Amino acid sequence: MDTKLGAWAFIDIETSGIDATSDKIIDVGFIRFEGTSLVSSYRSLVRFPTEENPEEKLSYFIQKLTGINPKELKKAPPWRDVEVEIQALADCSLIAHNAEFESSFLEESFEKIGSPERTPGQRWNDSLYFLALLNPRSSSLGLEHYITKWGLREKEIHRGYEDSIDLLQVLLIEVYFIKTEMPFFYQHLIDQFISKKMNDYWFYLFFQLPVNDLLKIGEQIDFDLIATLKNKKAKDVSTLNGEQGVWDFDLEFGGEQVEKIFSNEKEIKKVFPHYQKRDSQIELAKRVGQSFKNKVHSMIQAPTGTGKTLGYLVPTVLFAKSKKEQVLISTGTKALQHQALEQDVPRLKNILGFNQDDLKVEKLVGSKNHYCELVFRSSDDGELLQGSLDFIQKVSQIFFENLFFLNAQNLDQAVTREEFPYVLRKKIPQMEQLYQDLAVDFAACTGKKCPYKGECAYLHGIKKAKDADVIIGNHALMFSWTKSFPRPQYIVVDEAHRLEKEATEAFSLELSGRDLSHLSSALSHLQGLGSLFYLLAQTEHEVGASTEVIGEIRALSQRTGAELKELVDFLDFSIESLFRKLPNYSEFYSNEIPFMKEQDLLSPLQKNILHYIVKLKTHLSNLIQTLSPHFERMQLENLKEDAVVTAFTRFNIFFSQLLQAEKSLNFALKSEANYTHVIKYQNGSGFVISSSPINIGSILNQELLLPSSSVVMTSATLANATGDMGAKGAEWSTGYLYLDPSRRFKTALYLPAVYDYKNRAKVFLCDDTPSIYDEKFIPKVMTSIEKILRGLGGRSLLLFSAKSRFEQAREYLLEKFEGEIPLFIQGMGAQVVEEFRKSGQGILLGMESFGEGIDIPGDALQFVFVDKIPDVRMDLVIKDRREFYNREIGNEFTDYYLSSRARSLQQKLGRLLRTDKDYGAVLVVDSRFKSWKKDTTDKFFKMMEPYQMRKAPIEEATAEVLKLFSL
Ligand code: SF4
Repeated sequence: MDTKLGAWAFIDIETSGIDATSDKIIDVGFIRFEGTSLVSSYRSLVRFPTEENPEEKLSYFIQKLTGINPKELKKAPPWRDVEVEIQALADCSLIAHNAEFESSFLEESFEKIGSPERTPGQRWNDSLYFLALLNPRSSSLGLEHYITKWGLREKEIHRGYEDSIDLLQVLLIEVYFIKTEMPFFYQHLIDQFISKKMNDYWFYLFFQLPVNDLLKIGEQIDFDLIATLKNKKAKDVSTLNGEQGVWDFDLEFGGEQVEKIFSNEKEIKKVFPHYQKRDSQIELAKRVGQSFKNKVHSMIQAPTGTGKTLGYLVPTVLFAKSKKEQVLISTGTKALQHQALEQDVPRLKNILGFNQDDLKVEKLVGSKNHYCELVFRSSDDGELLQGSLDFIQKVSQIFFENLFFLNAQNLDQAVTREEFPYVLRKKIPQMEQLYQDLAVDFAACTGKKCPYKGECAYLHGIKKAKDADVIIGNHALMFSWTKSFPRPQYIVVDEAHRLEKEATEAFSLELSGRDLSHLSSALSHLQGLGSLFYLLAQTEHEVGASTEVIGEIRALSQRTGAELKELVDFLDFSIESLFRKLPNYSEFYSNEIPFMKEQDLLSPLQKNILHYIVKLKTHLSNLIQTLSPHFERMQLENLKEDAVVTAFTRFNIFFSQLLQAEKSLNFALKSEANYTHVIKYQNGSGFVISSSPINIGSILNQELLLPSSSVVMTSATLANATGDMGAKGAEWSTGYLYLDPSRRFKTALYLPAVYDYKNRAKVFLCDDTPSIYDEKFIPKVMTSIEKILRGLGGRSLLLFSAKSRFEQAREYLLEKFEGEIPLFIQGMGAQVVEEFRKSGQGILLGMESFGEGIDIPGDALQFVFVDKIPDVRMDLVIKDRREFYNREIGNEFTDYYLSSRARSLQQKLGRLLRTDKDYGAVLVVDSRFKSWKKDTTDKFFKMMEPYQMRKAPIEEATAEVLKLFSL
């Protein structure tokens, strides 16, 4: 054998489901090497159904995913024959993507021949971790992402042999790329593996292979590494070539100028090819301009097709440049933020003839979205020195080392916490903990004094944003603005219908059992307080003067840690028992009850829970009281050495966690007025004590509107088309209602619908279907719409509000249409929407949130199915809000409850018409609608305007839809 790699194999299996105890392997493939020489490869289907369970059926979903036909499986060799081939790999290092899955099905076969189970990183080597280490800046760790990134295939095949080969190709090219194009990162990684003593890690050995060995392995599987890298580079260069500036324009700010810009169709079309001059877009732009100029707040409803983003960007930029005032644009979603920055702003620069430096537009994300290197560095050294890290901890440490390393190389493109791969958080609790711990606490950040300031993405972002003309941020950022510079006085809030939810999250106080466990463990192990001891020792007036006080704090901390642990264990157990007794307890969702009050009639269990929460709070308060004088005595300005500044920051962060925990408990125990106090419990996640503001409008008024010169709040769905239904609820939930008349436009601006909804969108509401919880629901409604799907040859989007219904519909539709009309299914690849759009004749189905943001103009989408009228969340805070609204403001049922439901439904219907030539139909089914009173129905239909919604039996609605398309 010519390297230390030993015997190894890339292996992949396909199965009938994901549960190794009940599902079966149906396909296996592997490729085996000794050192760098290919020894053998193997592929085989496995007989299914098995003899023990001859009636078992392979789901249509698995057939679709793998392309395996059940007939082939019937003729395939039985598992006992295939298993022998697998057992021959007992001495190999096995490499698989998400290897836990393969090992859960295959480890038993090795045990049968006496091959002992091995620890992680021995038999099973998970390429998911290795790819994460090589790509700490990538949010995706799916195999398909890497297959498409390197142009190997258009998508993952989901077959044992092909996926094994594809995975090997991916790892070869990834390592080859780093070795040849990023030698500095290569060396960094080698140093990391060595420093963590991972010399036996199979991937380390693979990573170290000389380039010639990588090429040799590649050749044996017909994979040309050099050509693959060359092609990728050529592709990257071609996508970088953007459009050039076209128009030089005067920057004067004013209504006439705005009108002039939007009237120049010819020039704008050069960068926005589909641009058409629209009066409503000009009206929107003018209202933004007037708001800023007169320092008043405004609300604007801009229906789909208005050209909202360009509509507010033009006056924003003119205002920022000519008045030298910074403007904040707060977008509702990451996708919108990305779109504004990557597409709209560069095009706008072209329209207005700006060079790169003429207009500074910078993205700013909240502090919590950044990673604090100081916290990372000050928390891991101790453990590393003790050499006590296990394999997973080492992987977690190297991941963050790599992330900080690469971020520092390019601070402009620094990766943020938003991009952290969810799969790592889910799979590795240590990663989740680090992910939580490393969030920047802007109040504790030591800024200029920090030893890591030069490579800190958070500080870098602030520095750039400070000088920007326009900052693009999000709603969460608006509510937790940095202390480094004031929030801009002029703000555009896009997707303003999301403000209520975002503000609720931002202004709620929450403390979970997990937070408390983490605190108790930190106290017991003197984490955070170790920094205080260091600070006390460094600042003592004579040697040894602080020894006594350090001893006292240490004892108190450890005692408090132990007491907290006991209390949290008890609370975990008793809160779970309490919730499980509730009549409507759910295993799958979060449950909640009002926080107990002493004066209420409480059961013995509730009394105990309350008693223990009071004790928790008392322990925390005592500790805080002891620590406060030391905290107050430390002044950052007086601290000089890096080690002291680092220790201060650590202690500061820890102390603010204690304060936050105490505040959350205090809020709930004192039953702070105007808040809803609850205990939540979710199976698997534990309990949370939460306090949320009831009058969210008042909070938004005080925190956002009053301190700003002008805030423009805009959305496609604030109320109905003309603003005569639901508007008041929107004005309240955004804080607009509380403004003095001199500080706002009297009414919101409701721009006219751009598309002819009345004639081009037929919308039916059918209530003669079974209940959504009825087993017959999916078969019944799918049978009814089958004619439409077949008649249209696809061109449909189907949205479901529950996973079970989505999965049932998926099976139904695959059985009926596979081979006839292509189905594009959420979860089957990252490009599924794009593939649907390109196909022009498919059925796209997914969960309701999947539908958000789908933009498919033209004939590819002409029919939308929605499985129910969206509900308003039934949380206790929403209940309190509704009561508050009724008491203080008006008719909550119409203004808030019905209006919220109509707006959610409008968002879904908004997928249908995306240009003025589009037309089509929507079917919403909901048997609950039968019990709605006429008055409610009328109001709801009015709220759905500009859609002309009509109630009809499902068969009649289907017939009308067929007629619409002349089918
Ligand atoms: S500057 Fe602030 S956020 Fe950045 S590493 Fe230092 S303490 Fe952390």
